[in-house]
Amino acid sequence: MKKMTDQELYKRCQECGGNARRWTREFAYYLPEVARRDLHRRRGFQSIYEFAAKLSGMSFEVCNRVLQLNNKFEHMPLLWEQIRMHGWSKLRVIAFVVNSENEKIWIENLNRCTKAGLEKLVKNFKSVPGEEAQKPDIPLAKSTTQSAMTLGDNVPCGDRAILDDRTVLKFKVDDETEFQFKKFKHELEKKKGKAMTMGEVLKELLQKAETPKLKTRKIKKITKITRYIPVQRKRETEEKQNDRCRAENCNELATQFHHPLRFSLNRTHKELVKLCRTHHQLAHAGFIEERDEWQVNWQARKRDKRVEEVDEKVRQARRRL
Ligand SMILES: [Zn+2]
Ligand SMILES: [Zn+2]
Repeated sequence: MKKMTDQELYKRCQECGGNARRWTREFAYYLPEVARRDLHRRRGFQSIYEFAAKLSGMSFEVCNRVLQLNNKFEHMPLLWEQIRMHGWSKLRVIAFVVNSENEKIWIENLNRCTKAGLEKLVKNFKSVPGEEAQKPDIPLAKSTTQSAMTLGDNVPCGDRAILDDRTVLKFKVDDETEFQFKKFKHELEKKKGKAMTMGEVLKELLQKAETPKLKTRKIKKITKITRYIPVQRKRETEEKQNDRCRAENCNELATQFHHPLRFSLNRTHKELVKLCRTHHQLAHAGFIEERDEWQVNWQARKRDKRVEEVDEKVRQARRRL
């Protein structure tokens, strides 16, 4: 194998994985048409499942779901097209609320939301009075977006997400430095009479190294309002709100700070709220009334053009992850 750095290898895997998923979605798009034409039999396959498995490695279960979905969307060809972009599992979330009247809105929602976001919208979808919302006859698979989304915690919206105020730093040092550092740690622990983490030791070291010049620069920074939310503000928000997400009827743990007025438009950290990851995403996609009750609507609201622009940037940043 060609010599690659870790970064190159990782990037290559991302690229290949992304392409593999893209082609699987494309394959799923064509599959029902093959079944309709009975093409698989004419080419010597026993069943459409065998065709799917041999040509693309698609499992029986997935093949079945793709065909079921296609049945559901029979009269909504525009919606079926979306499988090429979003994949079957995301389409399946909306299968029981979409109809030819609201098709366009749900296509827009597909573009704006992740799968977890769509699941929340579907819950809030109000059916026409007198008509009961249909219950899915296939149980929805447990969300698989979780692990892939974890990365998103660190970027979102310009409001930095926090679970913990600490960051993991990794770096390499030579033997000499390691020895010196450990020695310093040991002596410091003896002096303080308690065990210390590497982070605490580093903090002590940096405080010792801080020159007067650095200090003055630091003071200046504090007086300026930056995107970074001061700890004091975070605490105030947490005191006002309990530890649950601010969105209506959401019982998830709130993990992300959010600016209802958008920081880049107002440059202030007043009126902060804390949301769970999914509702934070929905807020930036325009599905939440960002005051009083923090209601979620299944349809995106018309918003101020500037807010929409800011949020579009946030969504783009997420997609690049
Ligand atoms: Zn936000
Ligand atoms: Zn929530």
